[in-house]
Amino acid sequence: MAAMSDEPDGGTMPVPPAPASGLAKAPLAGRSLETAEDAPRAVPAPESTPESALGSAAEPAEPPMNAPVDAPAAPLAPGTPLPDDPADQAPMAVAMRAARMAGARGEVPVGAAVFGADGTLLAEAGNEVEARCDASAHAELLAMRAAARRLGRPRLEGCLLAVTLEPCPMCAAAAAHFRIGTIQFAAYDPKGGGIDHGPRLFDRAGALHRPDVVGGVREREAADLLTRFFRALRRPPSP
Ligand SMILES: [Zn+2]
Repeated sequence: MAAMSDEPDGGTMPVPPAPASGLAKAPLAGRSLETAEDAPRAVPAPESTPESALGSAAEPAEPPMNAPVDAPAAPLAPGTPLPDDPADQAPMAVAMRAARMAGARGEVPVGAAVFGADGTLLAEAGNEVEARCDASAHAELLAMRAAARRLGRPRLEGCLLAVTLEPCPMCAAAAAHFRIGTIQFAAYDPKGGGIDHGPRLFDRAGALHRPDVVGGVREREAADLLTRFFRALRRPPSP
């Protein structure tokens, strides 16, 4: 979808219900190891990162980049508070949808969504680096800006940011400026991440703001999307 992401196209879509999963709550400090597939995990999995999987010889069946998202079947009523468990996967479903749409536009398939404290979807966005000719047009930055405009205030206290890839240092710093309450991300990014990798912005003494962070939510799904995208880029054109 080529539409600008400044305006959330989902309206006031409520946060869908929590799937009956056994996901453990995994705050930034004291994350416990989780071995279940797609469960939050403390240890980055290099094999699931987009770059490291490029050389894989395996060529699994590749669903289209814009395959329908497994949308929640029974959304909660508007105004329903977000689930207590920050590892709930429902917000990430919205971010995954935005990521697939970004991939379909030829952008690196990363998507993000911001939910208000009352569970309302405030904004969703995919990467628009190519469309805007703007290297800083990362999905989460666009989504946070749109959410703040929607609320009519510059900060997003109590809001949840779901993003399909560990935010880079720029976006992590922006999340601190926006005072995001919780960051939920899917795939870890050992090369470009700024939360669990690189500068680890929220672990630093004197950090401006420390959101609750949960990584690894639907990690495999997000990493597979990125892997397929980069693999297709490297594939030589058909004769
Ligand atoms: Zn970023």
